[in-house]
Amino acid sequence: MALRTIRLLGDPVLNKVCREVTEVTPKIKVLIDDMLETMYEAEGVGLAAPQVGVLRRIVTIDIGEGPIIMINPRIVSADGEQVGGEACLSYPGKAGQVTRPNHVVARALDENMEEFEIDATELLARAICHEIDHLDGHMYTEFVEGDIYDVEAEEEE
Ligand code: ZN
Repeated sequence: MALRTIRLLGDPVLNKVCREVTEVTPKIKVLIDDMLETMYEAEGVGLAAPQVGVLRRIVTIDIGEGPIIMINPRIVSADGEQVGGEACLSYPGKAGQVTRPNHVVARALDENMEEFEIDATELLARAICHEIDHLDGHMYTEFVEGDIYDVEAEEEE
C-alpha cells in the first residue's frame, strides 16, 4: 500500500464525472488499498477516488465502525433531513453547514463485484452522500448554507 496525494479544491479533477468500474483489476485493488491507507493517514471518514486523481466510481468510508468500500455506489432511497457541519479532505481546515437526508439506502458493488445494500442514518448517510457527490464532480462547498468556517484537523471528513 502507498499513500496517495489528496487533490485540493480548485484541482479540475474534482469537478469531473467519474467512470463506472466494470472489473476489479489488480490496479483497482491497489487503488482501493491506497485509498484506505490515505483516508486513515489523513484521519478522514471518507475518500472518493477522484480525490486521489482517479476518475473511477469508488469510495471508501469509515465512520469508526470499520472500512466500507463502495464501487459504483448509488442512492436508491433517501428521506428525512439532517443539518450539520461538513468538511472534506480536499479542503483542509474548513467546514460548512450542509443539509443532507437523515436516512439513505445505498447500493454498491464490493471488491468481488457483488452487490450489497447499506441502510444508513446520520453520519454514515451524510458520508455516503458526500462521497457520491465527489464521483459526480461536486464538492460540498457548492451546497454550503452560510459561511465556510475554520475547524480543527480532527473534525475533517
Ligand atoms: Zn470530500
